[in-house]
Amino acid sequence: MRKEAKTNMSLTTQTVSTPNVAIKKPKIHVVSFGCQMSFADSAEMAQSFLNKGWASGESLENADAVVISTCTVRQHAEDRAMSFIGRLRVWKKQKPNRLLVVAGCAAQRLGNKIKERFPHVDLVIGAKSIESFSKIIEDVLSEKFDLVEENASDFPQTATSSQGAACDFVTIMRGCNYSCSYCIVPSVRGRERYRPVETILEETEAKIAAGVKEITLLGQTVNSYQAEYQGKTVKFPELLKILNQVPGLKRLRFMSPHPHYVNKEMIAAFKNYPAVCEYLHLPVQSGSNQILKLMRRNYTRELFMDKVRMLRSEIPNLVLSTDIIVGFPTETEADFDETLSLIKEFRPAWIYSFKYSPRPQTASFIESPDDVPPSVKEDRLARLNDLAREIGRQSLQRKVGETVEVLEESENFGRTRDGFKVKWKGGEKSIGELHLVKIVEASDFLLIGEKTK
Ligand code: SAH
Ligand code: SF4
Repeated sequence: MRKEAKTNMSLTTQTVSTPNVAIKKPKIHVVSFGCQMSFADSAEMAQSFLNKGWASGESLENADAVVISTCTVRQHAEDRAMSFIGRLRVWKKQKPNRLLVVAGCAAQRLGNKIKERFPHVDLVIGAKSIESFSKIIEDVLSEKFDLVEENASDFPQTATSSQGAACDFVTIMRGCNYSCSYCIVPSVRGRERYRPVETILEETEAKIAAGVKEITLLGQTVNSYQAEYQGKTVKFPELLKILNQVPGLKRLRFMSPHPHYVNKEMIAAFKNYPAVCEYLHLPVQSGSNQILKLMRRNYTRELFMDKVRMLRSEIPNLVLSTDIIVGFPTETEADFDETLSLIKEFRPAWIYSFKYSPRPQTASFIESPDDVPPSVKEDRLARLNDLAREIGRQSLQRKVGETVEVLEESENFGRTRDGFKVKWKGGEKSIGELHLVKIVEASDFLLIGEKTK
């Protein structure tokens, strides 16, 4: 459970490290703010540079170009990205020929205002243009840099940020056709576009070949995916079926599904396709029907709980987590109590909780004043987190004594199939290996164990 500063998709600053291919080539360094989608986008943008004969730069210091993948889902996320861009003024001044590209959701929202505020920025490329990123940077790169052409075609065309990693993401769709009243995503990312099954398969296979064992499929409402493949329409559960057959893929996850598309076929995929892990992040946002209506989520609390019950009765060992927003305009203490009671009924293993942040041009921003005072939002967030932590602790405690399968992501650290984080003693570092670990202890968010095999 994290506070507003983090998103459900871990709002951390992440650096994509790409394979180091040559010394004399110009170097690209990518920094990503925001969700896993932003992180996956940055891997794709880095790959565009590598495809043009660039090498990866491990730090800002040795980079000739920096791409910043920004987030705007909450004001705080945007502020962090802007302050980082501001700090790069010195970096650019040191070598004025360096290239600074600002991309992603905040770039889409703010457009050229970014250049006005930060004249050291060379290019602003919004999230809607991610598919044409490679084309857009072409001219600038050929004007500014002498490129080594010879190897360009040796580079894989799919993102391979995963070199050496156990887990990676594959974006299967972009944009969103919903219009949740608080959410800026549809306006900065546009309507849904689905990647072809062939491309998804190709990227998955390339990542597996690079050593990845676990793939998380990404999309804003990932389970609304559909595309034409071999003469018929492939919906999300069938995509899971196809990917389940990829040799070497040990674990398959996806986020974030929308409750509307949780149906029998999707649930059956957990049972029928062994790679699909028993974990689901299913955002609910609020427990109050009145607030859900104002949020335009298109379900009631009862409908949401019906889906949860259906999931749990079919897959008894399924672990669920969720997102909650507190302090949405007009949220009363009674509404908030409904959210607390939903959490008690739903019992997610963990939650990602956020204070409502008004986003320009969204329906709730236009129609309703941000009338829940900051201190009330803060207080509700703390009470919600206390309750969720207490419930989560019980799920973790239940694991003590069990022997679980863990995929090693970093030295002596990994996750279970059902999404719990595990640290263990013993054994050599072996990233990408599956281990059996006996759980001996549980803290608030972490299981501690001993390797048995
Ligand atoms: N597409 C995903 C969510 C993407 S945004 C889904 O529908 O589940 C990730 C999370 O950020 C959301 O689930 C929501 O909890 C939170 N969020 C989005 N807009 C917000 C806002 N304006 N203020 C606070 N939290 C917000
Ligand atoms: Fe935003 Fe709602 Fe779309 Fe999720 S489903 S991205 S919250 S509009």
